[in-house]
Amino acid sequence: MTIGGESVAADREFGVVNPATGQVHAQAPDCSREQLDAAMKAAAGAWRDWRKDEAGRRKALHEAGDLLMAKAGELAPTLTMEQGKPIGEATFEIVGAGYWLKYFADLEIPTEVIRDDDQARVEVRRRPLGVVAAITPWNYPVMLAAWKIAPALLAGNTMVLKPSPYTPLSSLAMGTLLKDVLPAGVLNVISGGDELGAWMTSHPVPRKISFTGSVATGKKVAQSAAPDLKRVTLELGGNDPAILLDDVDPGAVADKLFAAAFQNNGQVCSAIKRVYAPERMYDEVVEALAARAREAKVGDGMTEGVQYGPINNKPQFERVSELVADALGNGARAVTGGRAMDGPGYFFEPTILAGARDGMRIVDEEQFGPALPVIGYRTLDEALERANATHFGLSGSVWSADADRAAEVAAELECGTAWANTHLALHPGQPFGGFKHSGVGVENGTWGLLGFTEIQVVHRAR
Ligand code: NAD
Repeated sequence: MTIGGESVAADREFGVVNPATGQVHAQAPDCSREQLDAAMKAAAGAWRDWRKDEAGRRKALHEAGDLLMAKAGELAPTLTMEQGKPIGEATFEIVGAGYWLKYFADLEIPTEVIRDDDQARVEVRRRPLGVVAAITPWNYPVMLAAWKIAPALLAGNTMVLKPSPYTPLSSLAMGTLLKDVLPAGVLNVISGGDELGAWMTSHPVPRKISFTGSVATGKKVAQSAAPDLKRVTLELGGNDPAILLDDVDPGAVADKLFAAAFQNNGQVCSAIKRVYAPERMYDEVVEALAARAREAKVGDGMTEGVQYGPINNKPQFERVSELVADALGNGARAVTGGRAMDGPGYFFEPTILAGARDGMRIVDEEQFGPALPVIGYRTLDEALERANATHFGLSGSVWSADADRAAEVAAELECGTAWANTHLALHPGQPFGGFKHSGVGVENGTWGLLGFTEIQVVHRAR
């Protein structure tokens, strides 16, 4: 772990499983309560100088970004072996994280003058909060950490970061790497079980909890933060619909739809999780998606040419298996896939489910895996109503031969990002967050940066 600029071990360790084999392949430190206290203390100590040195922060973030990009090839196997994703995607994730740090290194921290007359000059400034406790999930551990580190540090906060117990190693390695360019205590990286996350959210030091994970855990985080009025940003789950309009050519959009549903094996918060297709082209849509699923090369992410790795962990593998079995038992049909693959590891066949309908668990819940239900619809109003009939509201997309029409209909979706003729298009300058149970607050862009600040009014009498 990295605590106060030092590499430290823990008294206890826990095993990290390689999902491609199902076997423990490494040990990670299990942070003690005393070590958590030390990390919080180090972050609070480092804050005193860090908050005052904006130029130094920008320089350090650039250096951190450059370093991550330069070392992406070296770090990538660590990420693949704990997460499962193909090595090329692991490299891309780490390079992307570096890009995120560099983007924020140059982002303006806004100050507004809202009054300047003969009576007073009134400025609205943005001040850092203090120590941020950052907690991340297992699907994009490095990238999602960068979404927090970059804006939090730029704004002048310091951080204690805890990755998921399924994927601690890449974040720990990132902490080791970045301690050479960040002042001691600015970024502390610790690892442990879910309990460590709960200790962090109830710890007296952090003023802000930045959490990415499931809705269920997000609710616990909000409860734990409330008694101390800690600020929270919650990036939670999604059950994102893609609606195909009646003028679309299924063959022309199938590649993009498939990619946005199966990227990272469907383990993306904002992946397409249900497709709504007009009934008259339903069979064509199902077949176009199934053709892509049949061609997909699934295997160990360390093997060249593999496009999709295993599901990250056993409980998630069991959950996807259960949701697919439930759909098949309730009248859906696996046009391709539909079952786990033979052999060790948490591999599941890329699955396209026809005859899916609202009310089936795989349509109503977040599957977060390589199985996609396709649902037929008669009228657009009906499709929109069904797409919006959920507690989730992270993202969604609408597809049409007419991009303006797609954008107009997409804006009817009750979600944080409404895509038109694309899906999963993200950028560090673009705010990302969820409506309803999909989150509180946003990450990225100036809006995400402001979430790591308090407003301070400086009112100067003339
Ligand atoms: P999870 O909620 O189980 O765990 C997320 C993190 O919270 C882990 O680090 C875990 O150790 C920690 N944690 C667990 N219990 C805790 C507690 N009581 N207090 C504090 N921390 C605790 O989620 P997961 O299974 O790791 O990730 C998958 C979920 O994350 C999916 O629902 C997915 O949609 C969501 N996700 C959302 C986004 C987004 O930006 N909106 C991005 C990626 C993933």
